[in-house]
Amino acid sequence: MTVRTRFAPSPTGLLHIGNARAALFNFLYARHHGGQFLLRIEDTDRERSTQKAVDVLFDGLAWMGIEADEKPVFQSTRQARHTEVAHALLERGLAYRCYCTAEELKEMRETAMAEGRPPRYNGMWRDRDPSEAPANTPYTIRIKAPREGETVIHDLVQGDVRVANAELDDMIILRADGTPVYQLAVVVDDHDMDITHVIRGDDHLTNTFRQAMIYRAMGWDLPHFAHLPLIHGPDGAKLSKRHGAQSVVEFREMGYLPEALNNYLLRLGWGHGDAEILSREEQIRLFDLDGVGRSPSRMDYAKLLHINGVWMRQADDTRLTNDVMERLGKMEGVDTSDATRARVLDLMPGLKERAKTLVELADNAAFLGRSVPLTFDPKAEKQLTPENRVMLGKLAEALKATEPFGKEAIDATLRQFAETHEMKLGKVAQPLRAAVTGSTMSPGIDDTLAALGRDEVIARINAVTAHE
Ligand code: GLU
Repeated sequence: MTVRTRFAPSPTGLLHIGNARAALFNFLYARHHGGQFLLRIEDTDRERSTQKAVDVLFDGLAWMGIEADEKPVFQSTRQARHTEVAHALLERGLAYRCYCTAEELKEMRETAMAEGRPPRYNGMWRDRDPSEAPANTPYTIRIKAPREGETVIHDLVQGDVRVANAELDDMIILRADGTPVYQLAVVVDDHDMDITHVIRGDDHLTNTFRQAMIYRAMGWDLPHFAHLPLIHGPDGAKLSKRHGAQSVVEFREMGYLPEALNNYLLRLGWGHGDAEILSREEQIRLFDLDGVGRSPSRMDYAKLLHINGVWMRQADDTRLTNDVMERLGKMEGVDTSDATRARVLDLMPGLKERAKTLVELADNAAFLGRSVPLTFDPKAEKQLTPENRVMLGKLAEALKATEPFGKEAIDATLRQFAETHEMKLGKVAQPLRAAVTGSTMSPGIDDTLAALGRDEVIARINAVTAHE
């Protein structure tokens, strides 16, 4: 059997991290078993399923590096096939036409509730002779639910989950306007797409029992099911806006790397020993459903931030520079010419050590593209005392004579200068850093000066010494 999994999102306008995680698990499971991962857009709600909402899904998955092996299937294009299956069940006597009016259904629900029973359809048209059907009356098609015994799902995460068939009612599979219901569409599509494993959130568990009825009535094999516990907030409550970001786009905008979000989401609810930072290859090699936990996972934003920092430090300098340049382009007063780019790239090894997100990285790199006069943060301002400005004036002379203007020679100049003036190196470096970066935090001062280049360093020092 070739494993075939799928991700079947409804276009809601966002890619929730719970769904992104389900997509990732499906993708990894298929890859691990040498199978295929498919994508189905469940766009039957035509009002919500705008092109924009669909693009959000495609963009989010592409960003996460989750690629389908076949062209996506759009559920809305398959209505005729869904309808055909409903009629096939009707012909086999496994479904029937129901002519109940809205009024009758309402009454049925009220009676059931008054008698303390669950408000289910009472099977009124199940065994009635079609000749009793009222003329010119719209009807729905309902499936004949089994009335005895129980339905057991051998869930690969939850274990055996069972429900008494008496709990299931004769659900509608085709509405009075001829449109198929969601449960029917999902089953027919999964069957036709040869899906072997359905991996999805455990909020779908009750749907699975209903969907099983359709599989059985059609005589189709059920796929394997794996229902994933949901992601909760840090406090254990259902993840919501008040906990923080929830959608892939939000994390992207906050400066997370896709590898980090992937890695974090994978570890959230799946484990393999102590393995924490996993490359895509390792993920594929190690992922299986037996590592998925049964209880809800709690979103830990601090841990995600930490994992992002780890991935940032491992990331390629050119790639990070490209991203930073894009972000700098959106900032006021920052030059984004090739000269700035060269400085950013040069200083990247030091910059990426000190930032946990791409946003922070760009903020820390921005000084490289600014020009005099810089603005100084309060701590930097404090460093620029009249005495220190005089000291920087002398230091500028020494730096003018530093050859070549690279890390080693700069370091030697600063040490020499500190010694000559009987100062600690830090007392020289901090005012200097303040003068050339506008802040008191930057990568090593020698690297920072080398990245800026001599002319720019002297110009920046002059700007703070000129008026003394
Ligand atoms: N379209 C459903 C959703 O977005 C998922 C259906 C499924 O995975 O079976 O929640």
